[in-house]
Amino acid sequence: MGRYTGPVCRQCRRAGEKLFLKGERCYTPKCAFEKRRKTPGERVPRRRRMSDWGLQLREKQKARQSYGVLERQFRRYFSDARKLPGVTGDNLLQLLERRLDNVAYRVGFADSRAQARQWVLHGHFTVNGKKVNIPSYRVRTGEVIAWKAGRLDVDFVQQVVRTVGQRPLPEWIELDKTAMTATVLRNPEAADIDAHIETRMIVEFYSR
Ligand code: SF4
Repeated sequence: MGRYTGPVCRQCRRAGEKLFLKGERCYTPKCAFEKRRKTPGERVPRRRRMSDWGLQLREKQKARQSYGVLERQFRRYFSDARKLPGVTGDNLLQLLERRLDNVAYRVGFADSRAQARQWVLHGHFTVNGKKVNIPSYRVRTGEVIAWKAGRLDVDFVQQVVRTVGQRPLPEWIELDKTAMTATVLRNPEAADIDAHIETRMIVEFYSR
């Protein structure tokens, strides 16, 4: 599966808001969006109002880039969301939230979703005791995400042990700081997800 390898901060400047793709750096004055808010490639400020389609596209790109998903996979998430009962937009966010790399990021096992994705790919995590190295793995209620045996002694994980729990924890995941495990208590609901994404626009984008 390919992935975006271009300049990460450019995506925030294109979205017109911070997407927090780089972990700690996003909260410091080094953040590229804080230093330069202009849309990439724009020499003179845009005067025209963006079309509805443009706004919908931007929202879709924002969601896709925030969760580090490529277009084809994102489309698949949307199609799965449509088939589920309930509101399609909420279902879409729920499916994205249930990705293993996102859960590892949400509980504070990684600084960013990109880092979580890499650590999942490197086989640092287990789900219910079994190694899972698929970032898109969809977690289910009752599953326990843990570090693979022996990883807790490694330097970079020790750093995580020191800082875990500092970020607000979503209510649908329970963190055990001592064991360094995360348990999925239930499926995330729209109110649990602070993604600032207008899912209605994404639904409209794909419904054209
Ligand atoms: Fe976006 Fe983070 Fe880069 Fe700032 S540092 S522009 S929030 S990715």
